Amino acid sequence: MTNFDNKILTMELNDVSFNNVENAFAYKSDKDLKLSHFLFKTMGYPLFVPLATRTTPLLMKCGLPVVNRLVRKTIFKQFVGGESLSATAPLANKLNQYNVNIILDYGIEGKDGNDSFETATKEFINVIKYAATQPNIPFISIKISAIASSALLQTMNEAPRLRSGIHDHEEEQAAWDDVCDRMYRICETAAKNNIAVVVDAEESWLQDPIDRLTIEMMEEFNIDRPIVYNTIQLYRHDRLNFLRLSHNIAKQRGFILGVKLVRGAYMDKERVRATQRNYPSPIQPTKEKTDEDYDAALKYSISNLSNIAIVIASHNENSNLVATSLMQENGIVHNHPHVHFSQLYGMSDNISFNLAKAGYSVSKYLPFGPIKDVIPYLMRRAQENRSVSGNSSKELSLIKKEMERRKAIVH
Ligand SMILES: Cc1cc2nc3c(=O)[nH]c(=O)nc-3n(C[C@H](O)[C@H](O)[C@H](O)COP(=O)(O)OP(=O)(O)OC[C@H]3O[C@@H](n4cnc5c(N)ncnc54)[C@H](O)[C@@H]3O)c2cc1C
Repeated sequence: MTNFDNKILTMELNDVSFNNVENAFAYKSDKDLKLSHFLFKTMGYPLFVPLATRTTPLLMKCGLPVVNRLVRKTIFKQFVGGESLSATAPLANKLNQYNVNIILDYGIEGKDGNDSFETATKEFINVIKYAATQPNIPFISIKISAIASSALLQTMNEAPRLRSGIHDHEEEQAAWDDVCDRMYRICETAAKNNIAVVVDAEESWLQDPIDRLTIEMMEEFNIDRPIVYNTIQLYRHDRLNFLRLSHNIAKQRGFILGVKLVRGAYMDKERVRATQRNYPSPIQPTKEKTDEDYDAALKYSISNLSNIAIVIASHNENSNLVATSLMQENGIVHNHPHVHFSQLYGMSDNISFNLAKAGYSVSKYLPFGPIKDVIPYLMRRAQENRSVSGNSSKELSLIKKEMERRKAIVH
């Protein structure tokens, strides 16, 4: 069967469509829609994003109020929930009216030092406690590099002696014990408050210790229900196997495997590093191979929902349709507690809101934090939406369609 046949079959088997722009943007006022239109159009200009991603972080560092104001009113408003936890409340309430949940993401990135790691741990714990008081925040997301130094993660990743779990370097041992302790406190609070913790996947040269720690936490906290989720990046050619391996470990040790499935955000960086350091790239040779493994991972997980819980984290319409048709084929109810869909806030509302309308469990991944701390996240969103033929044009055409629909009603 060709990919095209597969697509047709997927469409026929489906009870959801992503074409309804009225559902997709019902939560946006005309003014919000205009801002989104302006932003995606601007990001589509070929020179804009490379220039903006170079200059914005520098200008922000200079503390120019005008730049701060501009960022706050444009890209920050499109992709971020607010500068503080409480500032996310109005948006969370609004999304709740459309049965859309939130995965709260405290958007701190790349801060080093024990004080920062402790501050981040406390903030994650705060976010969990806050989420527990809200009707539509079942998950929070964390980055291990916010509670551990990247240098330590890299050492753990590279040194087989350390990787085997035998730490005879006292300093590294003590630093790693601190990381484990921070992670334990976060997961323990999550379990007590029945909030799930989704651990982001990072660069391949940091990932092994992240996987190991996350699986240890699952063994402790995922006995009756999924509290801890790892993230699997299917743009890596070894990760479909890793999913099967993780599942085998879960079966042997009697816990529920929680996994967020993504394609992966650091492809260019991974390839450049592999070339520079002369090792085989961990990335799939083609986009098609990534897509193939992503959909295979969906199939594997959906066939094993008795002890796997998944977050399908993708803006790829076909993969989302593959997931919903597999659920239908296997007679799985739309709101099965082990299947959750998620898209980033500010992107692919046509997928999120139409899935929610059809009764699937969906959430927007919502970062929050001071503007200066979320700049790396914003720059990644700009990069992702830069090409005229890619995401930005897709988003733009959906927004235009909804603007025209609204105009036609008025006239
Ligand atoms: C809710 C949510 C959470 C996320 N969390 C993480 C995370 O923890 N860690 C992380 O790394 N990313 C994360 N991402 C980002 C994600 O990995 C993707 O970068 C992004 O979602 C684009 O992939 P897609 O499935 O949405 O769609 P698509 O647009 O279909 O796929 C684009 C992706 O395909 C892959 N790709 C593109 N070209 C090629 C090529 N030539 N060869 C091989 N592969 C290729 C790349 O991964 C690229 O990002 C998250 C995304 C979402 C929606």
